[in-house]
Amino acid sequence: MGNKVHCDKIFYQFAGIMQTPTNTIDESISKAEKALEQIAQDIDLGRVVIRLTASNSTLFLNGEKGKREVYNWGAESEAQVSKFRFHTGEGGLATICFYPRKGVCWDAEIQNLLQLIANFVFTYVGSSKKSELLQKAAIIDIQTGLLNLNGFMKHGKALMNGGLLKNYSAVYLDIQNFRYVNRSIGFLSGNDILMAYTQKMSSLISDSEVIARLGGDNFVALIKKERLDSFLKMMQEMELEVEHNSQRKIFNFSITCGVCRIPADLKSMGNVMMAVSTAFQEAKRNNLSVVYFSDEMLQSSILEKEIHVKFPNALANGEFVVYYQPKVNLHDNSIEGAEALARWNENGVIHGPDYFIPTLEKDGTICKLDFYILNCVCQKIHKWLEEGKKPIVISVNFSRCHLQNANFAEEIVDVIRKNQIPGKYIEIEVTETEDNEDFKTLMKGIDLMQEFGISVSIDDFGTGYSSLTMLRQISVDTLKMDKSFLNDVIQERDKKMLDHIVGMAKDLSIQVLAEGVENTSQRDYLKDIGCNSVQGFLYDKPLPEDEFEKRLNKNFKYDV
Ligand code: C2E
Ligand code: CA
Ligand code: CA
Repeated sequence: MGNKVHCDKIFYQFAGIMQTPTNTIDESISKAEKALEQIAQDIDLGRVVIRLTASNSTLFLNGEKGKREVYNWGAESEAQVSKFRFHTGEGGLATICFYPRKGVCWDAEIQNLLQLIANFVFTYVGSSKKSELLQKAAIIDIQTGLLNLNGFMKHGKALMNGGLLKNYSAVYLDIQNFRYVNRSIGFLSGNDILMAYTQKMSSLISDSEVIARLGGDNFVALIKKERLDSFLKMMQEMELEVEHNSQRKIFNFSITCGVCRIPADLKSMGNVMMAVSTAFQEAKRNNLSVVYFSDEMLQSSILEKEIHVKFPNALANGEFVVYYQPKVNLHDNSIEGAEALARWNENGVIHGPDYFIPTLEKDGTICKLDFYILNCVCQKIHKWLEEGKKPIVISVNFSRCHLQNANFAEEIVDVIRKNQIPGKYIEIEVTETEDNEDFKTLMKGIDLMQEFGISVSIDDFGTGYSSLTMLRQISVDTLKMDKSFLNDVIQERDKKMLDHIVGMAKDLSIQVLAEGVENTSQRDYLKDIGCNSVQGFLYDKPLPEDEFEKRLNKNFKYDV
């Protein structure tokens, strides 16, 4: 033993057992154990110890410290230890110590061989560590060290395959008003707070639970069903102490979240994500802190997506059509105007506005539809004028969403101008708004429209919070009293309200129209209190264009 050739042989034997690096540190160290065992006898190896320390990094949040004995013959000599140190890329250190058997003294050649073996083990373990890191990076959010969506899905799938997912609730959450924290203390410290927040959140879950970061302040978690309530409570009342500019600061956080109690028959993690994000969006939209997922929610979110996808083509293909509901003058039962109401004719199936308007309002797409309807109405009036008919005033509904556009009134005027009709044939129905900025936009818009001869009415008057404030500041032409004032038999309280609204409007020289008139006793009461105009099923439902035009042609009067 001890000649050069023999050492080469031993090294090749060792390397042959190690072969190519494995994917995890653990596996590669186990391989080193086996290889060392095979050559131990030849070189009188007593004991081998590997020590690993890694610096703090996102992927190993608490650093990584480990000492592992990879070979032990039973009796080693402490006198002649061969120790090899290697610096790892991230400031960590790996040490490999070889001890000879008791009574053995290694010569220079063996020490050389040990150096080669140590180099080999270090390269081998280092490359396993790199591939372990790469695997982790694919499933870990680099900023916080939590799982990312990919990691979350993998974790969930593993639970599902083991039949355990049904024991969990999924929670999709974001931090309420987190952007204000960012804004008030600056972005860098905002990141520190996010780190502190995620660490605190991680401390609130048990070993079998998991939290992942989806980006920004959005997280998703799998929480044991029996712990859900307490988890949500802790998240709603989280108090965080953070050091900022050398001062300890306390932040209080609550969350907005969607929750899905995962049923046993759920087929995929994709469905879990769909359910929980649908509930989350519902919570956001309605300013609620928690919304629990329901099947109806899923159906309506599927329908919403369908409507969003179909809308542009439907609009371009002329599938949206205008129905007209006559407005009736109570003195002579004549038609004094009409309201344009949108319908969607999808391959012969006529959808009412309840089907598509709430969806289109969510992202403001409704504005396109409103302008489309306005344009159709203007074309119709233009045609009546060309044919020498006397047009009536047609009102068009304009959603509150238009108030996000400071020029909406200019654009309305533009459409009317382009269709070469006088503004006086168009009325715009608007609804109340509580938002101060919107209110200013509306006020400016109304002035501009009225200058151009367009009249403006407040729709659903009496249902919002600001009806009277609006009347004080805005000179509208007509109040459309909401149909909720009219029960089958009008309630005494409603009668008084209607009476006073009509009286007040008269004093202010504003027209009043009652919506939703369905029977003659309602009509008679409205006539009694001096309401001049009505609209409702007692006279007509909204009519398709051709039917409505028949009413106009015959100088029609209702016989009720
Ligand atoms: P709205 O503006 O309050 O329109 C009146 C609604 O009441 C119409 O429903 C009409 O059919 C219904 N109605 C009329 N008379 C009676 C009655 O005697 N009894 C009852 N129970 N209902 C009556 P529709 O056509 O389903 O429209 C619903 C809502 O959809 C409208 O309420 C309006 O807010 C919205 N909408 C319709 N078309 C458009 C549009 O082109 N743009 C915008 N932004 N909204 C529209
Ligand atoms: Ca209306
Ligand atoms: Ca209305």
